[in-house]
Order: sequence, then structure tokens, then C-alpha cells
Amino acid sequence: MLHAGAVSRDDLATELLAALDAGDLALEFQPERRIAGAMGQAGTIWSVEALVRWRHLRRGVVPPDVFLPMAEETGLIERIGSWVLRQAVAQVRTWQASDPAYAGLSVAVNLSPRELARDDLVADVRQVLAEHDMEPGTLTVEITEAALDRDRSVATATLDALRQTGVRIALDDFVGGQDLLSRLHGVPLDALKLDPSLIAGLGSADADDAVRSVLSTARNLGLQTIGEGVETRQQLIALRNQGCDLAQGYFFGKPLGAAGISAVLRAERRPRGHPTSGSR
Ligand code: C2E
Ligand code: MG
Ligand code: MG
Repeated sequence: MLHAGAVSRDDLATELLAALDAGDLALEFQPERRIAGAMGQAGTIWSVEALVRWRHLRRGVVPPDVFLPMAEETGLIERIGSWVLRQAVAQVRTWQASDPAYAGLSVAVNLSPRELARDDLVADVRQVLAEHDMEPGTLTVEITEAALDRDRSVATATLDALRQTGVRIALDDFVGGQDLLSRLHGVPLDALKLDPSLIAGLGSADADDAVRSVLSTARNLGLQTIGEGVETRQQLIALRNQGCDLAQGYFFGKPLGAAGISAVLRAERRPRGHPTSGSR
């Protein structure tokens, strides 16, 4: 059993490497939308999160949860991550240039624990920003507490350097809980993404309290807040009432390929002065 498992992991790794070279990896994007805001800003797209997909010849589209753990173990994630970063930045530059309304559109890219530990990560990010003449503040990297726990001092130093470059840092999959403040202490952050498990519980007193506590901590620290995995209007309204800044999830739509997002951006960009301009 063990042997068979190891072989199939190696096979998968070989296939993944070939897929990277053959151009069989692709990105989908999911909008992060403003919840509140003056002058018809509510509902508009503030950013898109890049999510990697493997278009497998026989297996169809393989989701990241299936191949990223193997990529993390084998180190392939470093090459994949570098490719994701380049693709995501190139794509968002196209959208930024497509319409003045989207000149400030942001893109978020996920970094695994192993990617955050790369000693050439900061140089790679700087090079990609320069190659694409990208405003650093329109790039956010998403990390998790697992990446911080791998080696806090290395992680913090890397994040500090990224931030000095002007790149924003978001903490993904945040569930709150005990010792919120001490866990976040000393970590350079710009945004907190509330985990879908918190959003799913909204409406129950416990989950409402947990969300309130995370949002108030974030506000005290001056962090932007994003509710992730928003699937219902009730969840969206609860987040808005609690003052969360942005929302992302199936309620608005599943992640889409670049062409799909281009169509959404075009459709939502109504002419100025139109009665329904920008409102939802
Ligand atoms: P994540 O960064 O937390 O991304 C959000 C995940 O939730 C995505 O899954 C997205 O499709 C899914 N999602 C969005 N809205 C909803 C919703 O309303 N309900 C539910 N149930 N799910 C929703 P996906 O694309 O399968 O990605 C899974 C994870 O894989 C990501 O979680 C991230 O940790 C990792 N990942 C994806 N792309 C990359 C990448 O390019 N690099 C790295 N290092 N990790 C990545
Ligand atoms: Mg993420
Ligand atoms: Mg998440």
C-alpha cells in the first residue's frame, strides 16, 4: 500500500512537471467585492483572487486541493508559484489597461508555507512587478498561519521586505479563536480573510460573536476585512451589518477563467451618468 501510494505520488509529480512545461496549468479568478461604500461603490469589484487549475488530458480539471499538497512536498510548488505570480500579474495588467475604471484593480496570489520560505521570493516578486510595470499596491499575497508557524522570524522578515516593496499582505483562512492579538503580533499585515467556516455559521449566536470579535480586532489593527465563502444573501447582509469591507464567494459566482472575468468587468462597467451606474 505504502509503496503503491509513493509510486502514484511520484507519477503525479512527473505528470505535473510535464503539465507545467506543456502549458496545462491555468488560472481562474474570483472577484472580491465591496460590501459597503458611497456613490454606488457597493457591489463593485475591488480585486480578483488567482486560483490555479490543472487541465488534465484524462482526468479533466484537477482542483488545487488534489495536487498542491504533493507539489508542496516535492518542492514543485516553487515553480508553480512563480508561474502563477507571472500569469496573475500579466492578466491583471491587461484588465487595468482595458478601462480607466479598473486602473486600480488588485490581484491576490496565494503563497504556500514553502513558497513563503523561498529565499528568492522577494527578488522574484520585484522582478515580476518591474517586468510588467505594475503598481506594487495592486498586488496582494495571501498567506496562512501555517506559513507563519513554519518559521516565524523568516516569514516575518520576508513579509517585511515584500511590504517595503509596496506589496500588500493578507492572512487567509482566518478563524479567529483564542489569543487573536498575540497570534497576529509582529506580523506585517494589511488584510484579514475570514474563513468560510465562520461565514457559514452566521446567524447563530456563537458564529456572530466570533465574526464580531475578528472584525473588531481587525479594525483595531487597521486591517481590511474580507468574508470568504459567502454563499447566501443573508450571510452578505450579516457581514455588511457588522462592517466587513469585502465579500467573496459563490453568492456572486464561482471562479472564472480570464475570458469570463473580462466579460463580467465589461458588463459591470456601465457608462457614467447611467441611472443604474455601479449600483446593485
Ligand atoms: P483559498 O485561497 O482559501 O481559496 C478559496 C477557495 O474557496 C477556492 O478553492 C475557491 O474556489 C473556493 N470558494 C470560493 N467561493 C466559495 C464559496 O462560496 N463556497 C465554497 N465552499 N468555496 C468557495 P480552490 O480554487 O479549490 O482552492 C483551494 C485552495 O488551494 C486555496 O484556498 C489555496 O489555499 C490553494 N490555492 C489555490 N490556488 C493556489 C495557488 O496558485 N498557489 C497556492 N500556493 N495555493 C493555491
Ligand atoms: Mg486565498
Ligand atoms: Mg481562504
